[in-house]
Amino acid sequence: MTDENFVAGVPTPALTKMSEFDPEDEYRPEPEPEPLPPSWMDGSARIGIHTSIVGSYLNALEAARKLGCNALQIFSASPRTWQGGGSARIAEVDAQAFRARREELNLGPLVIHANYLINLASEQRMLQTRSIQAFHDEVVRAMALGADFLVVHPGARGEATASQAVATIIESVKQAAKRSQLGGLEILIENTAGMGTAMGSRLEEVAEILQGLSSLPVGACLDTAHLFAAGYDIKTEAGLAATLGQVDGSIGLDRVPVLHVNDSKIPLGGRVDRHESIGKGKIGAEAFQRILRHPRLGTMPPEGLVGRAFILETPIDEPGDDRRNVAALWELAGLKEKAPEAEKGFSMLTAALQKRISVQAKTRKKKSLNAETQSSQKKKVVKARKKSSSAGKSRTKKKRG
Ligand SMILES: [Zn+2]
Ligand SMILES: [Zn+2]
Repeated sequence: MTDENFVAGVPTPALTKMSEFDPEDEYRPEPEPEPLPPSWMDGSARIGIHTSIVGSYLNALEAARKLGCNALQIFSASPRTWQGGGSARIAEVDAQAFRARREELNLGPLVIHANYLINLASEQRMLQTRSIQAFHDEVVRAMALGADFLVVHPGARGEATASQAVATIIESVKQAAKRSQLGGLEILIENTAGMGTAMGSRLEEVAEILQGLSSLPVGACLDTAHLFAAGYDIKTEAGLAATLGQVDGSIGLDRVPVLHVNDSKIPLGGRVDRHESIGKGKIGAEAFQRILRHPRLGTMPPEGLVGRAFILETPIDEPGDDRRNVAALWELAGLKEKAPEAEKGFSMLTAALQKRISVQAKTRKKKSLNAETQSSQKKKVVKARKKSSSAGKSRTKKKRG
């Protein structure tokens, strides 16, 4: 025997052993390692609020931290204007700074809410094309920022039937996501209050859209104010149980990783979308306590869903309303002790900003009042003319008669 059969003095197995080759030992390429879940996805409760990117994307992260959140939602661009060309993209240096700071702060999930002008259900060729392009840009920005979820409303059907609109929405989302490696990004279709011809006020409708998009990473975002205004009585214990049953029978609660928690200015079934501060609306604090503590809506397996988040979209009428709503969620969830510490006195609405907004509102009101009086004066003139002419006519009639 030569030294060849020895590796570091250990005898190698004799060649005869090769006959005992097990086909199971056949070489297989190593499977891709499963990406490690992010550190925030540890089964803890995730509570956040929609924060502002005005000035810098980083400001949104700092605001979330100062408000006592561990999750957040943002717009990735102005929500009420169409972005064009260069302004639709985020500079990589800004995106990278954002991703790094977010990791430092351990904020998650990061939810992005899509632009309000997007109507993926539109039958108007121009608007649909524009919406698909804008939603594609949303996907690109969301990925650049490293977002976990991109929330979009299903859109308004206009003259089309509901089933036509469902088909259009599915087609639009597919087109927008085409040629994008979505990676860890999931698209969430949000339920709506059902204003006008808005799609998605019924859970079955949202489920149908998701079904058509099963080739993509998709799920649903449920908004409590929208559910209530659409007629789902989540205010009572029995109503909540029934609604959760309906979610399970259509979408599936395991496909709802984000809930928008908003109280509603609108009563049950009012079909109008008006958010209110937690406990100050028609749903009420008691109902929110039930919602926030419900094991099926929590983050603890097996009943809950790890990483699920409660995100506020409540109005900020007075400085501090944002901070108080976040604190209310932690309190109603029974997790006040575990809540990240908020910065005392911090609000996204400063006194100076509040003043600027009220001045702007007054100017807007004045302008619209002026326009109104002008148009009503015009109408009066027209009416007066009509009156005099019809009076003339009736006089002639009388004469004739
Ligand atoms: Zn919402
Ligand atoms: Zn809403």
